[in-house]
Amino acid sequence: MPTLAQVLEQRTADAAPELVEPIDRGRIRCYSCGHECPIPEGAVGVCKVRFVRDGTLHVPWGYVGGVQCDPIEKKPFFHAHPGALAYSFGMLGCDLHCSYCQNWVTSQALRDPRAVSPPLEASPQALVKDAKRLDARVVVSTYNEPLITSEWAVAIFKEARAAGLMTGFVSNGNATRRVLDYIRPHIDLYKVDLKSFDDNHYRQLGGRLEPILFTIRTLHEMGVWLEIVTLLIPGFNNGADELKRLTGFIASVSPFIPWHVTAFHKDYRMSDPENTTPEMLMEAADIARASGLRYVYAGNTPGRVGDLENTRCHNCSTLLIERYGYFISAYRLTAEGTCPGCGTAIPGRWSRQFDGQIASTPFLPGTRRLRTL
Ligand code: SF4
Repeated sequence: MPTLAQVLEQRTADAAPELVEPIDRGRIRCYSCGHECPIPEGAVGVCKVRFVRDGTLHVPWGYVGGVQCDPIEKKPFFHAHPGALAYSFGMLGCDLHCSYCQNWVTSQALRDPRAVSPPLEASPQALVKDAKRLDARVVVSTYNEPLITSEWAVAIFKEARAAGLMTGFVSNGNATRRVLDYIRPHIDLYKVDLKSFDDNHYRQLGGRLEPILFTIRTLHEMGVWLEIVTLLIPGFNNGADELKRLTGFIASVSPFIPWHVTAFHKDYRMSDPENTTPEMLMEAADIARASGLRYVYAGNTPGRVGDLENTRCHNCSTLLIERYGYFISAYRLTAEGTCPGCGTAIPGRWSRQFDGQIASTPFLPGTRRLRTL
């Protein structure tokens, strides 16, 4: 019985030329994420899914770790086509190793023997056909870190765009200039998970803070629609000073970038901190507003965070979108994406009309089963 690593070794393509550079001693530098690994012949990168063989960088191709249909609110995008169905796929592996990961079965599949997630054979055409069949409006690379499998995401996104769909990444934001330039022509939406504002915390998770900040600044400059999430973990990143610096940074890039602060629940290997309470989320939201952020949301605690699930006009406070968890109970933006009360343009990517939700809870695509490798 081949191991997961042996199965995946057979499912590769050559890396995009934009994302590699030969360096000294026969090594190849990979630019698909902020680690910029210098990889010698026969070795793998930190992510464990990109490897050098016969002088070529091989990258994941031709499979998915899983597919699910999510309300776009779950990604979460609150300012991008509310109510849309997001056809979501992931591959395997990650460039970080967060002990509280909520997608660890796919993200840590090659690091942790308990994380078993059999890959499924897939093609861009079959995935996009399935997304269209289900009336999805967006195709999203998520569940593992999409940057480390950018070539495969771009292949699917080209197909998706040609079929009239939008595309998005749900990512830790550990990018490089080269990979952002590479994906830019093919991507509409990008969610960055800003986990902390302390470089030491990032190093505990296997990364660094600066590449994440670079990604946020660059995506905003590039005009990609960006929303930011912070999972609030008691004792890890919920200090008032850290939250002031974190939200102040986002506001310095743009006060109109939506910030979602979400509740931690005990998971994977991090079971020491207490679960985040709605009061902690509301305190963090107060700090964010004091920092100047205009669109602040609290997640994972439906109905328990006051007005923090709703969207209000940043100019006149008219209630524009009412939510309960992922469910949209009222939608009042105009066809032009403006406030019906004062006419202010609301930042985001809006449809001309709200057509209701196909689903406000995730579901599996079901009828068209993909073959297990
Ligand atoms: S994607 Fe990141 S971790 Fe993986 S090989 Fe490239 S630079 Fe290294």
